[in-house]
Amino acid sequence: MKICNLASGSRGNCTVIVTPDTSIMIDNGLTMRQLDQRLSAMSQLDTGKLAGIIITHEHSDHTKGLVKLSNTYKIPVYMHRLSVDNFYEREDLKYLVEQDMDKSFEVDGLHIEPFRLPHDSAYNLGYRVSDGKSSLAIATDLGYVSTSTLGWLKGNDAVILESNHDLTMLKCGSYPAYLKKRIESKNGHLSNDDCSTALVELCKSGVKNVMLAHLSQDNNTPEIAFECSKNNLMREGIKEGDDVIIDVASQFRPSRIIEI
Ligand SMILES: [Zn+2]
Ligand SMILES: [Zn+2]
Repeated sequence: MKICNLASGSRGNCTVIVTPDTSIMIDNGLTMRQLDQRLSAMSQLDTGKLAGIIITHEHSDHTKGLVKLSNTYKIPVYMHRLSVDNFYEREDLKYLVEQDMDKSFEVDGLHIEPFRLPHDSAYNLGYRVSDGKSSLAIATDLGYVSTSTLGWLKGNDAVILESNHDLTMLKCGSYPAYLKKRIESKNGHLSNDDCSTALVELCKSGVKNVMLAHLSQDNNTPEIAFECSKNNLMREGIKEGDDVIIDVASQFRPSRIIEI
């Protein structure tokens, strides 16, 4: 299984998963043009042959390019009913798959397990994706890591986890008070500290590849997020580079391709 994050952050999110037999996308907050440019890093992937686009939640940074991509290539869309109801382009979704998104399902041989995440959208899902040999879990846009969420993330070969903000940068930054409060709330976004605390548990459970995602451009930097997780792991005797590899997803360019 090959995993590439094409974009991550409040201006657009998109991750592609490619196996020898199929390919899927999780979220599409990119325009067709951005997609084409960024997919040149992933030559094995033919956008038109995607077996499905799986949506975490209806916020526009996760859905901006969804209708155009799905309708152009007739790609099935998997999205929770409550997110669909609150999606501004719901009337234009022609290839929505009608099914219970609270239960696990198959997309072209891939086993997909959704799990609920606390966020201020109508509904938000993380996903565990397995091809029978290896598995990836993805969780972004979550206010905190619950015991249940941690259970879904543990034991996978790779995890994409939000590391949204540095608390001091958020507190001292220029955001209005209501926005700071929203981001910090249990239905907001995950801080570097909370992400790095979860990572200790994940690494102890055998996770070898971690991608820090959905970084705030105003209240975080890739260096600060990386150092926070690296140092917290080091305090527990877990060495980045040896025991686990940490990548940081970017808003502007595709990530390294993770192979699991
Ligand atoms: Zn988001
Ligand atoms: Zn969101």
